[in-house]
Amino acid sequence: MRAKFVVGNWKLNGSLSANEALLEAVLPGVQKAGNRQCAVCVPAPYLSQVKSLLEGTALAWGSQDVSAHDKGAYTGEVSGPMLKEFGCSLAIVGHSERRTLFGDTDAVVVEKFIAARRAGLTPIFCVGETLAEREQGVTEKVLARQVDALLDKVGAAGVDGAIVAYEPVWAIGTGKTATSAQADEAQAFIRARVAARDAAVAGRLPILYGGSVKGSNAAELFAMPNVDGGLVGGASLVAEDFVAIWRAA
Ligand code: 13P
Repeated sequence: MRAKFVVGNWKLNGSLSANEALLEAVLPGVQKAGNRQCAVCVPAPYLSQVKSLLEGTALAWGSQDVSAHDKGAYTGEVSGPMLKEFGCSLAIVGHSERRTLFGDTDAVVVEKFIAARRAGLTPIFCVGETLAEREQGVTEKVLARQVDALLDKVGAAGVDGAIVAYEPVWAIGTGKTATSAQADEAQAFIRARVAARDAAVAGRLPILYGGSVKGSNAAELFAMPNVDGGLVGGASLVAEDFVAIWRAA
């Protein structure tokens, strides 16, 4: 059985008081459960707070991005070793919002993936097509480009132990969830792309779905053979929703 993950991505949301209230409401609903892991990826300034609230609990935490550089003259960046010092186990890389709003290219995302691994963080490598790309029928071409950029650089062994998240851009924050069949089809394609290099690595690679996951649709999505959990935006800010999604995994 592949590991399953439910990961909240708070994006640019939170405050000291709101974080504390949210985590206090989520924690009783989350148990350590075999190879299922629940986590939240929080804005960097809150890592210290989250570490002190979550240390020793069943809820892990991580970052929403990581610098490609470990140290030096890179104003505004946060490095893998810094994230590690604050107890992060995960780092999202290549989120579509980083790609489209902040110019993270395939090459930059791969460098961030490598930096996360170098620091001992588990990268969550995000891929996904835009609405225009889906309508043009080039979804698989886009996914292949994004996945191959990584595989060409790190090889199949380099993705072993990492996590992939399929997040169709048209489903993010829109309330428009991919159908479970659409998610599974894309995620099977991603897995096959990895399997072409190493079937064993592909077989154990967790591939999460992200894009308007809610308490009401999580069970159907997670029941699909290639969907190993979710990367959850908006619903991760509402304790009852996030716990319901965790229960569905
Ligand atoms: P929503 O769940 O708000 O659609 O966001 C998905 C996402 O981008 C998670 O990384």
